[in-house]
Amino acid sequence: MVFSWLKKRRRKKTAAPPLPPSWAACLEESFQHWNALDGGEKQALEDIIQVLIAEKNWEGCNGFAITEEVQVTIAAQAGLLLIGIEHDYYQNVDSILVYPSTYKLPRSRQVGGAVSEDKTAVLGSAHHGGPVILAWDAARQGGRNADDGRNLVYHEFAHKLDMLDGMVDGTPELDADEFNAWVEVMTAEYDKLVSRSRKGKKSVIDSYGATDVGEFFASATESFFEKPVRMQAEHPRLYDVMQSFYHQDPARRFQRIREKKGP
Ligand SMILES: [Zn+2]
Repeated sequence: MVFSWLKKRRRKKTAAPPLPPSWAACLEESFQHWNALDGGEKQALEDIIQVLIAEKNWEGCNGFAITEEVQVTIAAQAGLLLIGIEHDYYQNVDSILVYPSTYKLPRSRQVGGAVSEDKTAVLGSAHHGGPVILAWDAARQGGRNADDGRNLVYHEFAHKLDMLDGMVDGTPELDADEFNAWVEVMTAEYDKLVSRSRKGKKSVIDSYGATDVGEFFASATESFFEKPVRMQAEHPRLYDVMQSFYHQDPARRFQRIREKKGP
């Protein structure tokens, strides 16, 4: 109890608004989704950005230097997932490791009873009880492009939300009244994606989501924030359960921007 009270006090200090002007400029420049947010959402995100930058251990790998742009760009994307939900600033993430580009991950493979170490190039990963690892070029691209359907940072941090209840099973912590609808809709939508991807058919959700239910939730999160209008039109029930989990309506956000721009 005392610990969490102290933590809250410390947070109040670190999260004191306003954002340093150079960070604000960086958000405008590097996080395209920023201008789709309303005033309250921006304020919530500013708070989260400041806490994530102050409290996580940021490490550059392979000679990569962590700069203000790197931190603001990544913290903004990770923070977007949190602005509508009750959260504790990704308490299961101590460190954020950033490589300049794709990095090699040793992978154990069973080959005829023996385990063979194999190196595979990856863009990012989220480790149970460990860090989030990201390739900067992909994280940067994700921030600057709000609607191409791909976002490495959303993907990896969605895994971390999924892991909060101790299991990577595509089901994050939910309110009791959301649980049944979630399981029913996510199972049906996952099966649909598996069958479409087996036939080589594309979907608004990347076919990587057909790997397993954990990847399905992470990939669906990417589409929910990046292709919300299409997801809502083509998979309305999936959009509804994602919306009731994240407590955000990105489709309305994107439509508002379209209306502002005019036909
Ligand atoms: Zn994944």
